[in-house]
Amino acid sequence: MSGDHGLGGFGGPGAPAPGGPGSTGSGPGSRLSHSRRAHRTNRRVFGAFCGLLVALLALSLLSWTTVSDGGSTADTASGQADGAGDDKPGQNLVDDTPSGQLGLPGRTLPDRPSGHTALVSNPLYDTGRLSPLPCPVPELDVDDPGSMEQFLHLVADCLDDAWKTQFDRAGIPFAPPDRVFWSEPGVSPCRAYPSPAGAFYCRASGAVYIGTSDVVEKWNGSQDSVVYASLLAHEYGHHVQGESGLLEYYHEQRQLEEDDAGRNTWTRRSELQANCLAGAFLGSVRVSYPLTDGDLSALLDDASATADRSDSTEEERTHGSSDNSVWWTRAGWDEQSPGACNTWDVDDEDLVA
Ligand SMILES: [Zn+2]
Repeated sequence: MSGDHGLGGFGGPGAPAPGGPGSTGSGPGSRLSHSRRAHRTNRRVFGAFCGLLVALLALSLLSWTTVSDGGSTADTASGQADGAGDDKPGQNLVDDTPSGQLGLPGRTLPDRPSGHTALVSNPLYDTGRLSPLPCPVPELDVDDPGSMEQFLHLVADCLDDAWKTQFDRAGIPFAPPDRVFWSEPGVSPCRAYPSPAGAFYCRASGAVYIGTSDVVEKWNGSQDSVVYASLLAHEYGHHVQGESGLLEYYHEQRQLEEDDAGRNTWTRRSELQANCLAGAFLGSVRVSYPLTDGDLSALLDDASATADRSDSTEEERTHGSSDNSVWWTRAGWDEQSPGACNTWDVDDEDLVA
């Protein structure tokens, strides 16, 4: 699984300002008695033109600065050897703004949380258990990409429903992610696919990307649908992080770190949180899905397999230890609540190692 730092893709920041400041063409008339007024008008027009020019310059400087800040963090981790891949969420700080404007016409929604608060005391943590509608899942034929696509859409529908309710409770605007379940190569603003990860989330497009055949190959043909539901729910978890406002602060802070080992201390918390959010969703649909004890075992085995390997160096450790990956997935499953998934404020730092 795994995330993506998707910065790429944003066209140049400094696109030329549209159009000129407008023409000053309409003449003041030919009569002498109008000439003084015409002169004043011209001066006003010239003044307005200069003001506009200054504003445009300031604006282009600002957008250049913003984009270069975002761009400087393009240190995408490489894929994990075990197929977990680098599914860290896209970190584009520029293009996620449009999704912040969502809301019903005539109804003022609060802005999403920001800063340190968004991480450690996000209102989403106080929304209690997820309570999705029943989510009966059809048989999955993993060898049939069409069946996989249908399965993923159905689970994504359930995720949309569950998280929309939760965000409503928190009073935070929420738009579901777009879905790209690919069977042919393509390009996202974050990276091209197929990608080594088999699945990723791109914040720049607000979309979850999963290869309908690639993931089956990555998971060695596993027949247990819960591992694919978990993968989708994990990537969806990164979207939840984005919509709840914490990704932005996370990326800001992460890029202040001086080296990979320092940055990874942030990345692991993000990945473990996504695991927990996936666990919370799956726990909440365990009855209607339905998921058995065997499925729970498969889920936890998968959490272990997609964790960092025990022989990884600090520079490689982006997803947390096997024990921690399992611990957070299980915590989410048991509590069925995002409140169980606050990896940013834990008493025991070993839990996010
Ligand atoms: Zn991830």
